[in-house]
Amino acid sequence: MNTDLVVVGSGFFGLTIAERCAREFGLNVTVIDRRSHIGGNAYSENEPQTGIEVHRYGSHLFHTSNERVWEYVNRFTAFTNYQHKVYTSHKGEVYPMPINLGTINQFFRSSYGPDEARALIREQSAEFASTNPENLNDKGISLIGRPLYEAFIKNYTAKQWQTDPKDLPAEIISRLPVRYTYDNRYFNDTHEGLPVDGYTAWLERMADHPKIDVRLDTDFFDDSQEFSKNNVAGQVPVVYTGPIDRYFDFSEGELSWRTLDFEEEVLPTGDFQGTSVMNYPDLDVPYTRIHEFRHFHPERDYPRDATVIMREFSRFAQSGDEPYYPINTTEDRERLLAYRPAIKAEKDVLFGGRLGTYKYLDMHMAIGSALTMFENKLRPHFAGTAALQ
Ligand code: FAD
Repeated sequence: MNTDLVVVGSGFFGLTIAERCAREFGLNVTVIDRRSHIGGNAYSENEPQTGIEVHRYGSHLFHTSNERVWEYVNRFTAFTNYQHKVYTSHKGEVYPMPINLGTINQFFRSSYGPDEARALIREQSAEFASTNPENLNDKGISLIGRPLYEAFIKNYTAKQWQTDPKDLPAEIISRLPVRYTYDNRYFNDTHEGLPVDGYTAWLERMADHPKIDVRLDTDFFDDSQEFSKNNVAGQVPVVYTGPIDRYFDFSEGELSWRTLDFEEEVLPTGDFQGTSVMNYPDLDVPYTRIHEFRHFHPERDYPRDATVIMREFSRFAQSGDEPYYPINTTEDRERLLAYRPAIKAEKDVLFGGRLGTYKYLDMHMAIGSALTMFENKLRPHFAGTAALQ
């Protein structure tokens, strides 16, 4: 077999592994992906009519406080100074998110200072004081009080999960951020921005190495392919970033995920909503958010008479749907544990990335965890000092 390493999945995790192994060790790396494009969920492409860059799997905002990751990603792309801010449209009024002093004063038609607002929220959240909230609804009220919870969280959560929050476990939320300042920057990491030439240019630069061979439309479980699971078994090391349960033929059961549906539309206006992401927390609107992609790149020369929007709908994933967010119920956690012995027994395979570990990972986390796998597992293995697992 004319390759030193097979990487299954060309998302940020897989490409980081491939890039490191090719550049540091001169290994021949074969990256396969069942999709017809590289980049996994971070992939973006220009909408053909307008040229506006659309994040194909939902808005992707890069942010990190990890200096090692920041140094690494800057080898492939420069970043704009975009700072993410989110607004929410409730009962015909638009409020800043996450909930902050601006949201509170607008909602209560007041002009509280930080201490007064803090006292108000403390009083309103006392409803479930000294009880142990048993469901997400009671937990939400105990964290921020009933008025703000019911306006901004309750129905949004119900739409995300297609379930009444009274029937959702309390542990889905551990905290609901409330800021007692007017700061509504979404992230507070040291570094934030969007890739100047877009996500796909960044991802392509990571894969652009003579020792890296990327094969698209190639499913690891299709034995008609040269680099399928059965064809490579025992012959070459594998880094697998696809779904963990699929790898073992669902022997311990399927892990549950939420998926998203996106409806894209080109509109004949230069600006539809004045911002990149608007949440819709009310039940009479079926979608949870609208993304308007032109606002991610105000520095670009986009058309002034057309814009691209994408409505986002959320639901439980059925088999065949794209898995987006791990649901992580108690049964899921038990199933994941039950796969552990089988994972350990795969001596030539390392599992990584969000699908391979059943963990929500932001991009910087996927990249950081791939760099760690490279240093701790692949470097010693290819230096001949340690077995792969
Ligand atoms: P993926 O990108 O999912 O890549 C896995 C790849 O494996 C896929 O390309 C898939 O096709 C391939 N694959 C699976 N099975 C097989 C198989 N059998 N054979 C061959 N190939 C296979 N992160 C942020 O930092 N900021 C954000 O704003 C942000 N927004 C997000 C929004 C959404 C809706 C989602 C779902 C994620 C978001 N993320 C965001 C997270 C980001 O997408 C992930 O960090 C990143 O995708 C993780 O990379 P990965 O390589 O682990 O997985």
